[in-house]
Amino acid sequence: SRKFNFCAGPAALPEAVLQRARDEILDWQGRGLSVMEMSHRSDEFVGIAEQAEADLRELLKVPANYKVLFMQGGASSQFAMVPLNLGGKGGTANYLYNGIWGKKAIEEGQRYLPTHIAASSEATGLSRVPFQSEIQLSADAAYLHYTSNETIGGLEFDYIPDVAVPLVCDMSSDILSTPLDVSRFGLIYAGAQKNIGPAGLTLVIVRDDLLDQAQAQMPTMFSYKTFADNGSMYNTPPTYAWYLSGLVFDWLKNEVGGLDKMAEINRRKAQKLYATIDGNDFYSNPIEPQHRSIMNVPFRLADASLDKLFLQQAEAAGLLNLAGHRSVGGMRASIYNAVPEAAVDALIEFMTDFARNRG
Ligand code: PLP
Repeated sequence: SRKFNFCAGPAALPEAVLQRARDEILDWQGRGLSVMEMSHRSDEFVGIAEQAEADLRELLKVPANYKVLFMQGGASSQFAMVPLNLGGKGGTANYLYNGIWGKKAIEEGQRYLPTHIAASSEATGLSRVPFQSEIQLSADAAYLHYTSNETIGGLEFDYIPDVAVPLVCDMSSDILSTPLDVSRFGLIYAGAQKNIGPAGLTLVIVRDDLLDQAQAQMPTMFSYKTFADNGSMYNTPPTYAWYLSGLVFDWLKNEVGGLDKMAEINRRKAQKLYATIDGNDFYSNPIEPQHRSIMNVPFRLADASLDKLFLQQAEAAGLLNLAGHRSVGGMRASIYNAVPEAAVDALIEFMTDFARNRG
């Protein structure tokens, strides 16, 4: 009875993960209680938490001089936490701007530090990401922040910016979609509810030397150092979300076979969907092909008056949550890790039929 879910977030979780969670919900591994009901300080939960971190480190090959933090507050809280934690020595927060989430990060950052837009693709209608050659840092840059995948616009960086200051990246919607060279970054953060697990958990990967750069008057709970010094258990963490994320990491490692394999599947899914859009006059996508997202595929129908019918018929065909973000309209298929290739095949078949019958 499960349908194909193209939601941008909270997004589909791997069915195998949900089944395992269901099997364990009343009685986790014979202990007679669920993970939700355990003390976060119990040996059982500490074991679950440590395994999740170890699996994540293995998947992303996180170097030893980086801390992995399991925080709360969503990626939106990081828009403030980054300047608060990294701006203590003064300087200017530098940003790349190529979409709505990056803009939100800039607007929030302005409240805590002077900011500078080091490159923007606004002049080209946000249809591509800024090129490396366009990046111009301010002389006193404390860090450079960018959004590797703009979830709403459907743009994704095809390169990692090369700069001489700590690189900070919002990877909420493409983390774990492909292998990553973590050593290129000072800090990476991501809300969990796309490729990691359920909403409620926020992942931060931060290089050790950035843990002592905080502004004065930091709220204890907003400080990366608090989380680093306390194994992310200074207070009660979102235990169930952490456990489920651990099951997702285990699935990625042991069922998918790692991030190389995941990337291969993701590329195949995205390529065939873009080929369908490009190959049919009834559909369009405005992003430069080289910067198209492999996770979020926005598209428009040639006749927008058919949008509602498209969505109704898609839902009837078992294809859920294809409406574009409320700020931009149109359609968007989010095809994160847990969306099976069969879902993309079904969507392509539906789109082809719809265009033939209505277009
Ligand atoms: N950044 C990106 C790239 C996102 O896609 C989102 C949410 O979709 C956010 C930030 C905001 O995340 P949260 O809702 O976890 O605060």
